[in-house]
Amino acid sequence: MARGKMIYEGKAKILYEGPEPDTLVQYFKDDATAFNAEKKDVIDGKGALNNRLSEYFMNGLMQIGIPTHFIKRLNMREQLIRKVEIVPLEVIVRNTAAGSICKRLGIEEGTQLPRPIVEFSYKDDALGDPLVPEEYIIAFGWASQRDLDDIIALALRVNDFMSGVMLGVGIKLVDFKIEIGRVWDGDFQRLIIADEISPDSCRLWDIETGEHLDKDVFRRDLGNLADAYTEVARRLGVLPSNAPQPSKPTLVN
Ligand code: UDP
Repeated sequence: MARGKMIYEGKAKILYEGPEPDTLVQYFKDDATAFNAEKKDVIDGKGALNNRLSEYFMNGLMQIGIPTHFIKRLNMREQLIRKVEIVPLEVIVRNTAAGSICKRLGIEEGTQLPRPIVEFSYKDDALGDPLVPEEYIIAFGWASQRDLDDIIALALRVNDFMSGVMLGVGIKLVDFKIEIGRVWDGDFQRLIIADEISPDSCRLWDIETGEHLDKDVFRRDLGNLADAYTEVARRLGVLPSNAPQPSKPTLVN
């Protein structure tokens, strides 16, 4: 499928116009960035792995009735998605303390939280995506109270689904980030899961060993990032389409 002109380039993905006016093509790059792009590298195979993993998670969410922007995967690095208006928030769900919450509150990494905590950051790279209270979100019109109630309910459903899927393959879902898109059916607005769900945007720890299988491998120089993502894909039975395929049977006469 021929993709249209580029409309946006982010740190890990590029968006192109899609074949229909309400679609886009999302291209997954091999670029890895951390600490607001202060640390950068190119990790061979990361884009293909995240494309497949995000497809896997989005398909699973749709199967349990959670709407997402995902339409179909086009090839190793590209997927067709629904065009949405992105709500300018990073929606973070935490089950176990790690990363910024530990620094902010002095909690030890790995502490189980009393219940899943949903928090919001305002999407603005120049400001370093600051944590914002619901009061700011409503006052500045980024989302209404009703939207926020829907977003929290969606985020907690995604958390239950993702926690269960990962638990099934011996991985603890520590935390994750999602983005939300608005779509319009006439005057009626719906909120759907957008962007990607992949080890770039989740913290995933092996239940037995505590090994990190997510972007912290890159952030904290813990080893090879592609190997960690491949391990997640392998456990879930998801592999990039360039993985060696069994050879086709040949006709013998
Ligand atoms: N996260 C993300 N993009 C961001 C910020 C956070 O995908 O711009 C994810 C991150 O990978 C982790 C979760 O959201 O799974 C919580 O991140 P945290 O607030 O602890 O920030 P960090 O320690 O990554 O700076």
